[in-house]
Amino acid sequence: MSKNLDLVSRNIAKACERAGRDKADVTLIAVSKTKPVSMLMEAYRHGCRQFGENKVQELSQKYEEMPKDIQWHMIGHLQRNKVKYVVGKAALIHSVDSLKLAEEISREAVKKQLEVSILIEVNIANEESKYGVALSDAEKLIHGAALLPNIHIQGLMAIAPYVEDPEENRHYFTLLKQLSVDIKQKNIDNVNMNVLSMGMTGDYLTAIEEGATHVRVGTGIFGERHYPFQDI
Ligand SMILES: *Cc1c(COP(=O)(O)O)cnc(C)c1O
Repeated sequence: MSKNLDLVSRNIAKACERAGRDKADVTLIAVSKTKPVSMLMEAYRHGCRQFGENKVQELSQKYEEMPKDIQWHMIGHLQRNKVKYVVGKAALIHSVDSLKLAEEISREAVKKQLEVSILIEVNIANEESKYGVALSDAEKLIHGAALLPNIHIQGLMAIAPYVEDPEENRHYFTLLKQLSVDIKQKNIDNVNMNVLSMGMTGDYLTAIEEGATHVRVGTGIFGERHYPFQDI
């Protein structure tokens, strides 16, 4: 597993070189969903401090059990009634796709007197199976969420389609980057477009070439996932 981490880091460095980017500008998030704390600790001891989880309960549990200098990324769909378990634990919530959800996060942040960083999740390929705001509605959502207290929009997130050939997703990464540039130009108060969270095991190098600042790699670090307790 440490070998995988090294390999992914080297690949990131090479992709940065190809794209003329500084590798310090790309953050690797180790997506540890379904994996036991023992494996996360191995990654931690190997220097990993950024972990991504997609379930509230799993994130909370691992947050309690793991060292406190970790930055946790909530990358999965977030229900409003579970917001209270994430605010104060996740360093960045990647999956905000409605004003109602943003409002709930803001309310909870105010209550806990915390400042919360969020990303707006965009359904970049318009897939029915995916969460995320439509590309054409993203700006409106950002304008609305920007007005809310104690939350800060740091950028955009997208989950590209599952494809065999990462080249097929390059177009979507370009689209998301372009959207972030367009929004940045509007200079909206309380909106940063410094974070572009895109790219997974199958396509993170292409995503970096197109401007990703955060890549979310699970399988490439921890191996295949098994969902033993899930009903099908
Ligand atoms: C699971 C997951 C990943 C990681 O996927 P891999 O293909 O295993 O790298 C990245 N982003 C999100 C939102 C995920 O749910």
